[in-house]
Amino acid sequence: MAQKPLLQLPEFCNVSTGTLVVKEPLNYWNGSRVKPKDVKNAEPVYEPATGRVLCDLVPCGEEEVDQAIKSAHSAFLKWSKLAGMERARIMLEAARIIRERRDEIARVEVVNNGKSITEAQVDIDISWQTIEYYAGIAPTLAGQHIQLPGGSFAYTRREPLGVCAGIGAWNYPFQIAAWKSAPALACGNAMVFKPSPMTPVTAVILAEIYKEAGAPEGLFNVVQGGAETGTLLCHHPTVAKVSFTGSVATGKKVMEMSSKGVKQVTLELGGKSPLIIFKDCELENAVKGALMANFLTQGQVCCNGTRVYVQRDIMPQFLEEVVKRTKAIPLGDPQLEGTRMGALISRPQLDKVLAYVDGAKKQGANVLCGGEPFMPGDPKLKGGYFMSPCVLDNCRDDMTCVKEEIFGPVMSVLPFDTEEEVLQRANNSTYGLASGVFTRDVARAHRVAENLQAGTCFINNYNVSPVEVPFGGYKMSGFGRENGQVTIEYYTQLKTVVVEMGDVDSLF
Ligand code: NAD
Repeated sequence: MAQKPLLQLPEFCNVSTGTLVVKEPLNYWNGSRVKPKDVKNAEPVYEPATGRVLCDLVPCGEEEVDQAIKSAHSAFLKWSKLAGMERARIMLEAARIIRERRDEIARVEVVNNGKSITEAQVDIDISWQTIEYYAGIAPTLAGQHIQLPGGSFAYTRREPLGVCAGIGAWNYPFQIAAWKSAPALACGNAMVFKPSPMTPVTAVILAEIYKEAGAPEGLFNVVQGGAETGTLLCHHPTVAKVSFTGSVATGKKVMEMSSKGVKQVTLELGGKSPLIIFKDCELENAVKGALMANFLTQGQVCCNGTRVYVQRDIMPQFLEEVVKRTKAIPLGDPQLEGTRMGALISRPQLDKVLAYVDGAKKQGANVLCGGEPFMPGDPKLKGGYFMSPCVLDNCRDDMTCVKEEIFGPVMSVLPFDTEEEVLQRANNSTYGLASGVFTRDVARAHRVAENLQAGTCFINNYNVSPVEVPFGGYKMSGFGRENGQVTIEYYTQLKTVVVEMGDVDSLF
C-alpha cells in the first residue's frame, strides 16, 4: 500500500505546541519512508518549547547508509541523463508544492526547532525560492567553445559529480536541506541528506515532496543519525562530495575524512561576526540592524553579528534604544503569530548560553537586559528552553563572550574611536563568515567592506540572504559557497574535450 505523505497524516494536520508526536519512520530512500533496522540505539528528540518528547531518533548504521547511497546512485543514472529543462520542470513542481504547504511545513518546523512561526514561514519561503531559482539555472548549464589552430577546437562540459552527501545543522533544518539539494539536483546529482539528530522531522517532508513532484525514486534520500552516521557518509566510496553545515570542530573532521577519498567538500561553519556602527549612521536603522544581527532564531544563527562595535560618540543613544527594543521582544509560544522569540534548541544549549552570560559578568561585562532563564505564563511551556534576550555592555576584545561563538541571544557591545582601529579589531578573529557596517558615508562603507575579512559584508542592513546572493565563509568559517550562480561550480566538474580536425603531428 502506498504511504501517505507525512503532511497528510492526521497528527501533522493543525499542529500546535505540545500536541505532535511523530511515530512515522523518518528515514527515506528508494522513494519511501524506511523503518529503522535496529531500534535499540533510539534516543529521544525533544520539542524545545515544551521539553516534551517529540519522537525517537534511531541512527542509521552501515547497511542503511549503504542502501540510501545505492538508491541515490540508481536515481543519479536516470536524472543526470535528463535535459536541464526536464529537471527544471520537476523542481518547479516541488517548489510549487512547498509554497502551497508552506504554513503546515512551518508549523512542524516550529515544533521541532522552537523558532517563531513568523521566522519559520520565511525559512520555508526561502526554501521554495531556492528550488525555483536553481530550477531556472538547470537548463542554462553550459560549457565553453575554444578555437584552436587549423580548425581544431576544444569544448568544455559541465557534468554532475554523482551522489552528494548533505549534512545539516539544527538551526534551519528544512532550509539547509533545500539550500543543499536545490543546486545539487539542478546540476544532475542525487543526494543523501542527514539532518541534525535534534531536528529530524522536516527533511523527510522535502523528500516526499520531491517524489510527488516527479523526481525519480532515490533522488533525494534522508538518513537519520549523529556523528557515526555522518562518518559513514563521509567515508562511503560512492559519495563524490560532502556539503556540510555545522561547527568548525566537526567541519575539520568532515574535511579530514573526505580527504581520504579525495572528495570535494563545501564547509559552512560557525562565526563571530563584527557589526560596525559609525556615528554618521541612521541610528534607528542601525539599532534595528543590530537586533536582526543578533536575535533571529534565538541567536542561533551562524552569520550573526554578535560583536557590535559602536563609535563612542553615539554609544549612549545606541544602548538606550537597543535595550528598549530588546526588552520589548515578545517571547513565548513560538506557534503564536505575535511571538518574535521562541525557545532555544535544547536544555544543554540553554545552559551553555546562560553560562556564557555568567562568564561575561565575571570578566567585567554589564548585563543591560536579559540573560536569564524565562518561564512563560502558559503552563504547557513550563519545561521549555526559554531565555530572555541579552545585551552586554562594557565588553573588551579579550573576553570569552567576544571571542567565542555563543549561539544564543547574546549581543556584546564594544566602543571604538577610529575606522582604522575598528577594522583591525574586527578582523582579529579566526572566523570570517559575515560582517556589517552602518554609515551614511558611501566611500567609507565600501572601503570598510573591502577591508573586512569575511565572506559577506552587509552595508546598512544585516542578515539579508536572498538565494541570488552567494553565501559562505572566509578563514575558519569554511569555504565553498551556497546560493547564487557560483554554487553550480561546487556541484559540477568540468570536462574538456579536444577535437583534432587535421592529421596527428607526431614526434615519434
Ligand atoms: P555540529 O557540528 O555539532 O553538527 C552538524 C552536523 O554534523 C550534524 O548533523 C551532526 O550530526 C553532524 N556530525 C557531528 N559529528 C560528525 C562527524 N564526526 N562526522 C560527520 N558528521 C558529524 O553543529 P550543530 O551544533 O548542529 O550546529 C551549530 C553550528 O553550525 C554552529 O557553529 C553554527 O555556526 C554552524 N552553522 C553554520 C552555518 C553556515 O551556513 N555557515 C549554518 C548553520 C549553522
